[in-house]
Amino acid sequence: MTTYIAHARIFDGEKLLDAQSLTLNGEIVTAIGGDTAPAGAEIVDAQGATLMPGFIDSHVHTSVESLREALKFGVTTELEMQGYWTPQQRTEVNNDDTLADVRSALIALMAKGGHPSELMKDLGEHDPAAGESKGWVMPSVSTPDEARAHVNAFVQQGADYIKVMIEEGTVMGRPDLPQMNPQTIRAGVEEAHALGKRVIAHAITLDATRQALEAGVDGLAHLFIDRKADAQIIVALADADVFVTPCLVISSSLMGNAATALADDPRVNSRLPQIWLDTLRGRFNTYPEGNFQHVLDSVAALHSAGVDILAGTDASVPVASHGGVAHGASLHHELQYLVQAGLTPSDALAAATSVPARRFNLIDRGRIAPGLRADLLLIDGDPTTSINDTLDTRAIWRRGTRLAA
Ligand SMILES: [Zn+2]
Repeated sequence: MTTYIAHARIFDGEKLLDAQSLTLNGEIVTAIGGDTAPAGAEIVDAQGATLMPGFIDSHVHTSVESLREALKFGVTTELEMQGYWTPQQRTEVNNDDTLADVRSALIALMAKGGHPSELMKDLGEHDPAAGESKGWVMPSVSTPDEARAHVNAFVQQGADYIKVMIEEGTVMGRPDLPQMNPQTIRAGVEEAHALGKRVIAHAITLDATRQALEAGVDGLAHLFIDRKADAQIIVALADADVFVTPCLVISSSLMGNAATALADDPRVNSRLPQIWLDTLRGRFNTYPEGNFQHVLDSVAALHSAGVDILAGTDASVPVASHGGVAHGASLHHELQYLVQAGLTPSDALAAATSVPARRFNLIDRGRIAPGLRADLLLIDGDPTTSINDTLDTRAIWRRGTRLAA
């Protein structure tokens, strides 16, 4: 089937185009521009709306149901930073156009008894048998050899990239969490690179961030929240070409802020089940002494220094004590925070489209161009000047299939 979208403002993931029409056929965009619809095409009049690539959330922990919620908000791809899917489950998600697509790190490199086992305990998943019943046991590593074996095992099981947990617990309300030693982290990173996989570190403090840099990671799944970025760390991150997914929404939750205004937004609560609205109104509150403005200032400084900023939420499970975030909805909240930090609306949109596509080598998406996957959003208004407009979703296409309203 061919669809011709006319009279749209088109943001291609990097910039506004002069063209105002687009043709998609089957799963891909086939043409940009052209004044007449191809014969037999369904015509969509996009007057007053902006067409842009589907959003990519660069930090989640997800499930089939969460992928469904994400897509309702225009998130067409979720990048999971710890979770588990069998290859068969991955194929089912890939072929289901009612779900966001997913990429996953599968199980992260983590220390025995270290992060995130303390969160799993809260959720009643500390019993190894609970993991077993889901098809896996939460593994941990203590030595370089174990780290290499772990990376090999999960790459074989389909990990798209490798996640490493560097967390001493100070901002998680659990000081003295066990950690892997630097040699073990380094061995895991080197093994992943030898296998052609990127490595993304969980690091929420400046110390942990320095450890991640020393280990040679490619990206950070959080931005440190215990300190404002100083010139030294900014230069170090820029020189190492490390990308940063600040996850401002979860940072705010750690500091005690619930996402009440987001949950109250009719564009959100009309689309979100009650359990997720309750989750948005929850919060972590493990680091109330934190200064959120400092985190926003750090984002601005990193962006100015040329560090790639990616939009991510760290959305996971619908539990209020782990709340403040929800799949899909919170990506819009993150974009609002990125603009509050000082990114232009277009830069914020790029952080959720073309930038993660480039950094995660998702060559078939994240931009609008002929031949690329037709993951598209039609948004009323102009999010390139008013980021608040992103929630005014008029239509969503996932792989060329329009999501039923
Ligand atoms: Zn996470």
